[in-house]
Amino acid sequence: MSSSPVFFAGLDIGGTTVKSVLVNAEGDPVGDMVEVRSHVKNGYEATFAQLEVALDQLTSAAGISRDQIGGIGLDVPAPSSEGVIWAQANLGSDWVGTNVRDRFSERIGGIPVYMTNDGNAAALGEYAVRKKHFGSLLLVAPGTGLGGGFVLPGGRAWEGANGLALEVGHISIPHREEDGSLPQCSCGKLGCLEAWVSLVALRRRVAIELAKPENASHPLNDGSPVEEKAFRLREFAQQGDALAVGIFRQQGNLLGYGLADLVRVFDPGLVVIGGGLAETAFRDQYLEWVLEGFRERAWPVYLTSPIDPAQTTTFFEWATGGDSAAAIGVAFAALERFH
Ligand SMILES: [Zn+2]
Repeated sequence: MSSSPVFFAGLDIGGTTVKSVLVNAEGDPVGDMVEVRSHVKNGYEATFAQLEVALDQLTSAAGISRDQIGGIGLDVPAPSSEGVIWAQANLGSDWVGTNVRDRFSERIGGIPVYMTNDGNAAALGEYAVRKKHFGSLLLVAPGTGLGGGFVLPGGRAWEGANGLALEVGHISIPHREEDGSLPQCSCGKLGCLEAWVSLVALRRRVAIELAKPENASHPLNDGSPVEEKAFRLREFAQQGDALAVGIFRQQGNLLGYGLADLVRVFDPGLVVIGGGLAETAFRDQYLEWVLEGFRERAWPVYLTSPIDPAQTTTFFEWATGGDSAAAIGVAFAALERFH
């Protein structure tokens, strides 16, 4: 029986890259994050090969052998239950219906694997990096879509009976476009929160705003593709451009409005906002816009105690785990389950 120390790996499979980390049995990170291409469109076997490349880099940098890995956490950008992927999302078609968790575990010699989706993984990561937080945590992360996750006191993600919980992007919001219509969401339904708070939403909004006669001479009306316009919107907002600020203010307000209902359901005590906005220079202003929307919809009791108004009932924070948060989250989940 070997007495060599045991380690846990976290592998975060994204649409383009795999981000991976190693932690020791105390949960401390060992070495740096390793990033490799994910090749998800080429099928799960192609991605498995990349996961092994990442594992080999992690273990050789740490000077350990693979048999010292006591468990692996894996997250995928798609809904899944018990290791089986339910929808293609950003993956290739052969992922659907496959027990990715068990197949990968077999491939790597039976090392136990925990698998969840990217929203849960990021929430677990934000929980793990807040070493002094012992309550629950609700994460919302505007990105291409709007992901989310909820961690229970003690550090387990609430995944639901079928792994389908916390699809926060698809709760409904009564807000309408100026012509009275509800926007179509990427999920096919109308009026989802994600249709207002996501990169996809920014593209729609910027196209609508730039088409207005009063914005004809706006510098973003330069014939560039809408993807590029949406990408540049942040730098315009940082410079105080009224059109860009208006779009982000609306987005922040509506995120806050949606969060009011989520907080009413979960009463998490701590709301963490993730995604790329966590790195923007105007994020303090954005958080104010979120709180504007939150106050409009939530009862005051969800912000301060009615008994002691100095006591905050719901804290709002930016994500601090950076782009390794999801990998850290599933590494911790593996440590918690398999150690
Ligand atoms: Zn939707």
